[in-house]
Amino acid sequence: MSTDWTRKTAAELADALAAGETSSVELTRAHLDRIAQVDGPVHAFLHVDADGALAQAQASDERRAAGGPASSLDGVPIAVKDVLATKGVPTTCGSRILEGWVPPYDATVVARLREAGLPILGKTNMDEFAMGSSTEHSAYGTTHNPWDLDRIPGGSGGGSAAAVAAFEAPLAVGTDTGGSIRQPGAVTGTVGVKPTYGGVSRYGLVALANSLDQAGPVTRTVLDAALLHEVIGGHDPLDSTSIDQPIGNLVEAVKQGSSGDLSGVRVGVITEMSGEGWQPGVLARFQDSLDLLTKAGAEVVEVSCPTFVHALATYYLILPAEASSNLARFDAMRYGLRVLPEGVADPSAEEVMRATRDAGFGPEVKRRIILGTYALSSGYYDAYYGQAQKVRTLISRDFANAFEQVEVLVSPTAPTTAFPIGEKVDDPLAMYLNDLATIPANLAGVPGISVPNGLADEDELPSGFQVLAPALADDRVYRVGAALEALLAGEWGGPLLDRAPALEGAAR
Ligand code: GLN
Repeated sequence: MSTDWTRKTAAELADALAAGETSSVELTRAHLDRIAQVDGPVHAFLHVDADGALAQAQASDERRAAGGPASSLDGVPIAVKDVLATKGVPTTCGSRILEGWVPPYDATVVARLREAGLPILGKTNMDEFAMGSSTEHSAYGTTHNPWDLDRIPGGSGGGSAAAVAAFEAPLAVGTDTGGSIRQPGAVTGTVGVKPTYGGVSRYGLVALANSLDQAGPVTRTVLDAALLHEVIGGHDPLDSTSIDQPIGNLVEAVKQGSSGDLSGVRVGVITEMSGEGWQPGVLARFQDSLDLLTKAGAEVVEVSCPTFVHALATYYLILPAEASSNLARFDAMRYGLRVLPEGVADPSAEEVMRATRDAGFGPEVKRRIILGTYALSSGYYDAYYGQAQKVRTLISRDFANAFEQVEVLVSPTAPTTAFPIGEKVDDPLAMYLNDLATIPANLAGVPGISVPNGLADEDELPSGFQVLAPALADDRVYRVGAALEALLAGEWGGPLLDRAPALEGAAR
């Protein structure tokens, strides 16, 4: 029987390529075939670039034959969230307003993928401009969770997470402004990493909120995330907030963690992230994971971060403020859609702009533009935006205090498992609550990982375990994440995704 390459991890694919057991063209074809087979019902992709991916795969094979792969992942295919500019390949941000826009340049992350030789399979679905926790706010239809097609895959990066969970891609890139890599990871049983703010370039990442956005890996294993992080991370002179320091040896940290030994590591459980509103099964899985970490030698203690209860409110002032300003560039003149107002003979620029933005933006985007414009308006600025910035400082201080006591902080990644499509889409506050545990890290700029840590309650849907570390200590989240992954695999006898039931359903 021939090997099913789509079932392999990126590290395994890289090894198979290095050993000459396969070619990048073969791997890329296998994933394109899988996409053709299952993406109808899953709808993880907005655009599949089969020709482009195969041409890059061909180039990778030629490079290897000529004696030198460009990187450890040369030839391993990848999917990219549709919020990153890809030269010559449509980029919509899940919005009608960018329908048909083909960027004339690559985001730095994308340029690094190309330089490292990873064929780009296509662009993945997302909530419009990365606003949401379910991918239901995409203007191009929702993505379905491969574990249960009637449920959400998380958001905003549900497309990237679902593509990886459904074995359509071994790797994907997501972006995380308030949880959009980690929460989809939790509800699809995949690994998601939000790097330290400034650790991965934002150049060419269509901005939602500049002070919060960070691109990062979406994978099936912690090792794959580290391999990808090392490819996309590091200083970029094109991004003024990029940190000019080495990102550390993340793969080494994974190796260290995989031994399953956490002797002497102090792990802080965030007191504020449990109790009312948290699904009992999610809390039970979290406790199981804590027990495993304790058995592995970690010292698990409780740490209170009292200001974290204000993180959600703070985020929903700062994010809309930044977003409303960023989205002003979609003015019907520069990019994508242009709608002429009906019945107006000689419309002014403002009338065209109004008609275009009215037709081009969905309800969640409009809601946030209104919120942000209000929070920034004179007379309200100090009361809302200014106040939120002060609370943001307090949240960073809580992190700093906590990290004096422990090396990492942990919590469940999301308060619930995947909920049914349609359940929260008309209830913005219920939707916002999904990011309760992930938002503090964005406000403080610290790194975080979500590792799949079991199936919760009678629905048997995946839950996620979040590990947070101080800024620039991304290696710690990899070490502890890898340790937990190894300990859990020992318990389960294999990766969690092997138990994903609806994958056959997806192929129907
Ligand atoms: N769900 C959050 C929001 O809607 C986070 C989004 C994100 O991380 N891009 O803003």
